[in-house]
Order: sequence, then structure tokens, then C-alpha cells
Amino acid sequence: MIPGSFEYHHPGSLDEAIALLSSLGDDAKVLSGGQSLIPMMKLRLAEPAHLIDINGLTDLEYIKESDGYLTIGALTREADLDRSDVIGKKYAVIHDTAHVIADPQVRNLATIGGNLAHGDPANDHPATMLALRAEVVATGPNGPRTIPIDDFFIGPLTTALAPNEILTELRIPAPTQGSGGAYLKLERKVGDFAIAGVAAVVTLDGSGNCTLAGIGLTNVGPTPLRATAAEKFLLGKPLSDDNIAEGGRMAGEASQPTSDHRGSAEYKRAMVKEMTIRALKKAKARAEGEQ
Ligand SMILES: Cc1cc2nc3c(=O)[nH]c(=O)nc-3n(C[C@H](O)[C@H](O)[C@H](O)COP(=O)(O)OP(=O)(O)OC[C@H]3O[C@@H](n4cnc5c(N)ncnc54)[C@H](O)[C@@H]3O)c2cc1C
Repeated sequence: MIPGSFEYHHPGSLDEAIALLSSLGDDAKVLSGGQSLIPMMKLRLAEPAHLIDINGLTDLEYIKESDGYLTIGALTREADLDRSDVIGKKYAVIHDTAHVIADPQVRNLATIGGNLAHGDPANDHPATMLALRAEVVATGPNGPRTIPIDDFFIGPLTTALAPNEILTELRIPAPTQGSGGAYLKLERKVGDFAIAGVAAVVTLDGSGNCTLAGIGLTNVGPTPLRATAAEKFLLGKPLSDDNIAEGGRMAGEASQPTSDHRGSAEYKRAMVKEMTIRALKKAKARAEGEQ
């Protein structure tokens, strides 16, 4: 449980951090909260020769609303998302998600940027960001670029970030009137990774018809998944029990679970179906004004 030796760097600016990443190449890793990277190093699943600790870049810690977006700095801790008024009042699905990640000790250190950059399909934020149609801002030697969340997760523990890029910000379109969302996670015990998780986001028009649907799935595929067919099915329809049940069935079909110590593939698929139904019902109730 002792990591390999490494050289520690503590840059004072984003430019300095990117310059270090560019010069050190594949031998270097960014260190944020360390809640995934340090365990991997202790298990010798990761053996970077250089750690670039970005915890000094405190201007990457923020939660702001501007120009029709919620923007979250990459170094924002789970505990800050959990406590944020704006997240609690307007982005309940993000609040739900942060609240069920690990335990309070981990949440005090773990960052939203690290949660996404790690590219682990078992992590909880990716499904929520898929449902919300977020954008990822990655900053490298040529400045920032924006990556749509659908293009971000490439494979297990692999993202669209270049080796010399730092994930600096998440951009989430502000919800319009009649929007609601929910994240539900099935876990063996509190603090564990998900057996399966579902993020659901909906917008309803004045007649109760669904004008936007987002459904993201956790830990039931090689990457976080979007249940695209279920989203399309719900569009333009009222969120009746029957339509929600069909959406749940389609989300179960879209999942690609494998059997492991958390359950059989069949069980997980059935849980995706049921949790999608429950998440859609909760999202609908919130869209209709339930706090
Ligand atoms: C006991 C325990 C339980 C856990 N349970 C859960 C859980 O229930 N749900 C869940 O989602 N996660 C869980 N995790 C995993 C962990 O909380 C997340 O992966 C965490 O949010 C990672 O963020 P971090 O800031 O700690 O990242 P780090 O560990 O610092 O980094 C993770 C990876 O991302 C890269 N990275 C980090 N920040 C950036 C950046 N800004 N730009 C580019 N690359 C970057 C690092 O180089 C590394 O490869 C758990 C971890 C532990 C230890």
C-alpha cells in the first residue's frame, strides 16, 4: 500500500501547471482531491513519475450562474456542491449526486473535476452531466476548448482530455421554467460505488408535455451511458405512468451491465429500469414545483 516514488510539483498558476504537463508528458498526472489517484498509486495501478498538485489554483473553486449557464470550477469539492444554495434550490439533480458520493471525509477533498476527468463509469457525476447536457472546458497550451459531454467519455478511465490539458470548468445550461431532475443510486451500503445509478432531467410545458428529457446511467457500461432512445420516446408526450414505465423499460434495454460482485447483469438491468421510473417520477414532481 505504499506508492512508487514520484516528484512533487506545486504550480502557482494554471499556465505553470499546463507548462509542466506539456514538458513532462505521459510521466505526469494532475493531483486534485487525490481520492481516486492516491488509492490507485497505493495499489500500483498508477505509477506517475511526477505529480502536479493543482490544489493551489484556488480560482478554480467556484459555483456561479451567468449568461444562461451554471458554471462550476473544476476544483470545487463535493462538500461545497452539497452545501451550495444555488445547487440545492435550482439544480437538485446535482445536489442529489454530490450527496451520495462516498462519505463526508472523501467529499471534503474530492473535486467535481477529478470525478469527471477520472473517466470511471462507476463515478456518479458523469451520468448527471450527461442528463444535463453539460459541457466540459479543457485548458491546454493553446487556451481553453469546450467539449460536449457526449464526446467526453471515450472508454473505461479514458476521456477526451489531451495529456497536457486540465479540466477547468463544467458548464451546465440553466434550467427553464418547468424543469426538474433527480439522481438515484442503488448501493450495497452507504458510501459504496453504485450497483447502478440513474440521473433524470425533464422540462414540461404548460400542458404537461415533455419538451426536454435527459437520462444518464452510472456503472452499467464501459463508459457512463445516455439512454437516448428513452429520451426520444418521452419527448412531446405527457409524463403519464405508462409513458414513464416505457421510458424505464427502454433505459434498462440501453444499459450494458456485466455480472460482478455487485450483482448479475440481469439484476442490474432490472434495477436500471426501476430506478429510471422512480427518477423520472421524482424529476416530474420537482418540475411541477415539489421542493
Ligand atoms: C472510499 C472512497 C469511496 C468513493 N466512492 C465514490 C462514489 O460513491 N462515487 C463516486 O463518484 N466516486 C467515489 N469515489 C471516487 C472519488 O471520490 C472520485 O473519483 C473523486 O471525485 C475524484 O476526484 P479527485 O479530486 O479526488 O481526483 P484525483 O484523485 O485527484 O484525480 C483523479 C484522476 O483525474 C485526474 N484529474 C483530477 N483533476 C483533474 C483536472 N482538473 N484536470 C485533468 N485531470 C484531472 C487525475 O490526474 C487522476 O487521473 C470514492 C473514493 C473513495 C476513496
